[in-house]
Amino acid sequence: TRANTVTPYKTTCSYCGVGCGIIVRKDSKGRLQVEGDPEHPVNRGVLCSKGRNLHYVVEDKSDRLLYPEMRWNRHMPLQRVSWEQALERTAAVFKALMKKYGPDSVGFYVSGQCLTEEYYLVNKLTKGFLGTNNIDTNSRLCMSSAVAGYKKALGDDIVPGSYDDIEKAGCFLIAGANPAWCHPILFRRIEQHKEQNPEVKLIVVDPRKTQTCALADIHLQIRPGTDIILYHAMARYLIEQDWVDWKFIARHTEGFESLKQVAFERDLDEAARRCEVPVEQIKEAARYIGEANGFLSMWAMGVNQSVVGVNKNLALLNLSLITGQIGKPGAGPFSLTGQPNAMGGREVGGMASLLAAHLNPANPEHRQKVADFWGVKSLSTTSGLTATEMFEALAEGKMKAIWIICTNPMVSLPNSNLVEKALQKARFVVVQDISKKADTLAYADVVLPAAGWGEKEGTMTNSERRISYLSKFTEAPGEARPDVEILWDFARKMDFEGFDYQSPAEVFNEHCRLTQGTKIDISGLGYERLQRERSIQWPVPDKKHPGTPRLFTDHRFYTGNERARIFGVPSENASETTTPDFPLVLITGRIRDQWHTMTRTGKVSRLNQHISQPFVEIHPEDAHERGLKNGQVVEVYNSRGRVRVTVKITGTIKRGVVFLPMHWGKVLNKSFARANNLTSNRVDPVSKEPDFKYSTVQVLPY
Ligand code: SF4
Repeated sequence: TRANTVTPYKTTCSYCGVGCGIIVRKDSKGRLQVEGDPEHPVNRGVLCSKGRNLHYVVEDKSDRLLYPEMRWNRHMPLQRVSWEQALERTAAVFKALMKKYGPDSVGFYVSGQCLTEEYYLVNKLTKGFLGTNNIDTNSRLCMSSAVAGYKKALGDDIVPGSYDDIEKAGCFLIAGANPAWCHPILFRRIEQHKEQNPEVKLIVVDPRKTQTCALADIHLQIRPGTDIILYHAMARYLIEQDWVDWKFIARHTEGFESLKQVAFERDLDEAARRCEVPVEQIKEAARYIGEANGFLSMWAMGVNQSVVGVNKNLALLNLSLITGQIGKPGAGPFSLTGQPNAMGGREVGGMASLLAAHLNPANPEHRQKVADFWGVKSLSTTSGLTATEMFEALAEGKMKAIWIICTNPMVSLPNSNLVEKALQKARFVVVQDISKKADTLAYADVVLPAAGWGEKEGTMTNSERRISYLSKFTEAPGEARPDVEILWDFARKMDFEGFDYQSPAEVFNEHCRLTQGTKIDISGLGYERLQRERSIQWPVPDKKHPGTPRLFTDHRFYTGNERARIFGVPSENASETTTPDFPLVLITGRIRDQWHTMTRTGKVSRLNQHISQPFVEIHPEDAHERGLKNGQVVEVYNSRGRVRVTVKITGTIKRGVVFLPMHWGKVLNKSFARANNLTSNRVDPVSKEPDFKYSTVQVLPY
């Protein structure tokens, strides 16, 4: 009933890493209508509840930041200022702090929701011109264990396949993910494929019986932290049954013996006992994998967000490597990206541990190549601080200033109380965001209002290496500006050369040029081509290149000797251990209709109807032991903090485990609902990804 005269704009959903194509129609009164793009190869016209309601988020400007604000000290209220004043002051403070304390006293904390051009600019600004590697992103909380796993095993941060492999796969293993809720359009494709091909198998590994399990042939409801034991047991059984690809192992891999050694240290019965699953289920799952024509593993935060996240990734990757299920149709390891542009951010090196174009900051030649390209003498050799390290450094007074773009760390980082302390202690906090609801604003010295989805143009890359163009179809409210403009204006205020861009297209072209000759070469791309072709999978090394749906088809990997590496990783978890005081394991995660800290989905009433209040899930026997009744208010607590929510007693969660959604902020209707009050700031030693899926707690009636 909306739009009668309509202008169609093609764009991409701004929520998850599935990257669905969207058509936005705008009527003569400026009202918007959103629909799935029937020609888009990812979603073929379908959208999930979040995508379908995106126009409400754009049209509702009630929570938007409209003009820059500033205060001279924390006792003063924020006051409206001009862009000129806000950026002048920010530049002056950054210059003064860097002069007095050195370049590593400042840093940026950005987001997997930033567009690639924004990511590229902030990375160039920080590493090339401020002279520090202190730029990290909330992708650290999401994908960094998968990145490290890919690099170690395959030689680069590469997802080998495509979503089109779904329709060619014979067996799926979905681990630590609930795509039925969190990657719904992708899951729909799995569902349809399985409906049409009943012999296709689905194995789910998850301590919770989620919606995804409804489709599963086997649900391995493991005890949190035992993932590696499970994958080693599967590897052992695959080897014992001769279901591995010996030729592939001999010709294209190294390290098989190290896996064999650890896999055969423990028999299957012992592994099953440790994982708390029936041994027959492990054998049956291994049989599905071993007999499948195409084996596709998919995983997300349940694997990555762990103190041993990299080892979990490597143990899972082993299953694809020993069966030779990589670089061919319907096969491969396929990490599911949480955020819409986590992969695009990595392409431009938007993390402390990366360089642009997947170059290596530890390699002097790579550093010099990027420095020369940016027209600077050299890049810093000091390692940058990662997400949690930056906030620890702020709390300790080692870092003085932080600039936060498009993310809400007060809710999303682990151990929230430490994050609050860090922001209190920081000498200077810049918050660049779209929403007045960002919890960080309470600590901001300068607030910079940014344009949101549809109010700016740019590009993003989804989970399958597909780069898409996003159209601008509406104006930003008030004085809000695209993030690229804010960043290049700041760089000019700092008197840096090389930021005289006129448009995001120029930034994108520069990024494409820098990738030339690298593994992620996209020098064949530009806005015109993307607008014409809609989306394309990298590498795209020249203007006629059609894009690359599948990598490693020749089984030559990006390691020095072109062999994929199999790792016999230790199987032990390194999380905190349960005690009589804190006997339950807390896992955190998402619900179907909310996104991250709810600054966008929280304002759509339809999305709030699915689950409107925070809750904690607990097993009936754990509830009975504590005298809990369904729906009563309980306190979940440990030494770091507490959360007060209603209890949901359910047999779908494993005994000894509780689940809290991660979306809600500090206080909701006078109750404390922020799950990260409880999570620990232990991180994986390699990926530095936090251990969100294993914190010990107690639950008692309130
Ligand atoms: Fe958007 Fe992800 Fe839903 Fe697709 S599946 S519409 S990308 S939230």
